[in-house]
Amino acid sequence: VSGPPAALCGVLGHPVGHSRSPAMHNAAFGALGLDWRYVRLPVPPERFDELVRALPASGYRGANATIPHKLAALRAADDATPAARAIGAANTLTFEDGRIEADNTDAAGLVDALARPLAGLRALVLGAGGAGRAAAWALREEGAEVAVWNRTPERAAELAADLGVRAAERPAAAHGAAPPDLLVNATAVGLDAAAGHDEAIASLGLDGAEPPPVVVDLVYRGDGETPVVRWARAAGADVVEGLEVLVRQGARSLERWTGRPPPLDVMRTAAANSAPET
Ligand code: NAP
Repeated sequence: VSGPPAALCGVLGHPVGHSRSPAMHNAAFGALGLDWRYVRLPVPPERFDELVRALPASGYRGANATIPHKLAALRAADDATPAARAIGAANTLTFEDGRIEADNTDAAGLVDALARPLAGLRALVLGAGGAGRAAAWALREEGAEVAVWNRTPERAAELAADLGVRAAERPAAAHGAAPPDLLVNATAVGLDAAAGHDEAIASLGLDGAEPPPVVVDLVYRGDGETPVVRWARAAGADVVEGLEVLVRQGARSLERWTGRPPPLDVMRTAAANSAPET
């Protein structure tokens, strides 16, 4: 007779049916021989704090937070890592010794997925939402020269002032006359499969632009290449897809909760094959 799992983890979101994290983490627990279970935790914003506080007593060791809870996750924590504090948002909560610790593994996950030295590179981040903040902070920490462009310029200016990076008025002139070495799409552009390719590239100010040697698209979809990935590959750029960044942020969370080395290949396969719940 199988009893309840030895420990629980979950993803807090609203909605959360689209999340690939349960498939990815459950496959990892299985590969590590851990009797742990990772579940979806749908929760509306007004009930977030109450639910998070109840999780440790219900057997939870950790949780991920996704849209719209990343700011609330940081606020609900007793301690936060320098990454979570600087970015102003958390995607990972760890429950330990009666305390809640917040981390932001989107930042380290991006650096892990890039898997190359970043010091001195000119990096252009498109987007100044939560993902843009995590990317800009992570790249700056690694010693890159970071410029951020955003559709709404005030948000890019605020991010730049908070994190000590540059705000770019136009993507094409982010580093003056010098072209960037690396571009990260941290906007939601490309998420909508119905929107046109050219329209998506134009909305990022990239029409007619030559892709830099390395391009990351944080956006991922189940149905083939995103516009930014297609644009970059057509010019021979080295592409890092959003799914790899998802796997790497998940791997960092898993390692924090279990203390075990994450089985990356198992997590990659599970994330790639998991069909979002409808
Ligand atoms: P967010 O806080 O809502 O920010 C959305 C960003 O997209 C803003 O910068 C917004 O610009 C921009 N944007 C939206 N529509 C646009 C358009 N038509 N043209 C130009 N810019 C547009 O969201 P987020 O949490 O930062 O996430 C952004 C994306 O990253 C999402 O697609 C998410 O799935 C992805 N993501 C992936 C990972 C991963 O692990 N792969 C992790 C985190 C996020 P304005 O400020 O002008 O509205």
